[in-house]
Amino acid sequence: MSVPSSADLSLADIYRARNRIDGRVCRTPLVESPSLSAHAGTPVYLKLETVQPTGSFKLRGATNALAQLAEQGCTRVVTASTGNHGRAVAHAARALGIDATVCLSRLVPANKVDAVRALGAHVRIAGQSQDEAEHEALRLASEEGYAYVPPFDDPRVIAGQGTIGLEIVEALPDVANIVVPLSGGGLFAGIALAAKTTSPTIGLTGVTMARGAAMHASLAVGQPVLVEEVDTLADSLGGGIGLENRYTYALTRALIDETVLLDEASIARGIAHAYRQERLVVEGAAAVGIAAVLDRALPAECIARGPLVLVVTGANIDMDLHRRIVGNETTQAAPSLNSHIAS
Ligand SMILES: *Cc1c(COP(=O)(O)O)cnc(C)c1O
Repeated sequence: MSVPSSADLSLADIYRARNRIDGRVCRTPLVESPSLSAHAGTPVYLKLETVQPTGSFKLRGATNALAQLAEQGCTRVVTASTGNHGRAVAHAARALGIDATVCLSRLVPANKVDAVRALGAHVRIAGQSQDEAEHEALRLASEEGYAYVPPFDDPRVIAGQGTIGLEIVEALPDVANIVVPLSGGGLFAGIALAAKTTSPTIGLTGVTMARGAAMHASLAVGQPVLVEEVDTLADSLGGGIGLENRYTYALTRALIDETVLLDEASIARGIAHAYRQERLVVEGAAAVGIAAVLDRALPAECIARGPLVLVVTGANIDMDLHRRIVGNETTQAAPSLNSHIAS
């Protein structure tokens, strides 16, 4: 398979991103999971992005983008987010002395609004949906001169997320397959570019929820498509990829070996296993790799490649929801837990 590289993004950009974010973002641990290794019949390692200061890997891409904007003399940035990206931008902006505005729709729960505000960002409540919040962010960018920081379809963001791939290959030179939660594809594209450029035989698996998976639907159709957003335990994997997608769709299409889809009960089992067996609090989006191993959802050729790394992307789950998922002896109640997050 040939590895795409464009004027906008190459392995060198990922190395530059690493130098730029070094000291501002954690180099995260890679730990073997004995229980998952036994399940899979091949060594399974967890890449723990849960330990980042904002509770998710999004800090890598946000810091890489904002550090470049700071070098260029930019003083004001704006973004739209329902969660981890907004929090990462707020954190990076504060560290770099940049003024950040995060546009959030009226649907965003109060605890997330508070988390962004607590980091010193201006919160602008705009509209009834993520689309409307994004519209307001783009308006501020074009009319008032703010720099807009996209959540995934941006070479600076992709390069920042790609530093995870460099760390994995260095810590585990015989890694055979990397399993990556897939949404907008910034994470997947960055890790896949870093890993396959370094070692072309590494397999790259995308895992996402069965319902409302925009990248999966787009790959199936052969171009970016709109998908109705539905509630899922993997809330950080919701949302579209943009009909005008410029980078992540083409990179994902070129670099992905297989996509695995999981139902809600499976994601709940992944969250519960992480807690009981690995002693980790993970959000739904971060549990999909673990769930795929537990439910033997990974294709046989993926397991056969050899040592697996699962990217455990974030810890930002509502703790009441978490308590109910891990307190459930069977995880049969998962679908009704979903209706909770709709409220
Ligand atoms: C954003 C996010 C993802 C998916 O990243 P994309 O670049 O949108 O594919 C996965 N897990 C968590 C916890 C996230 O916040």
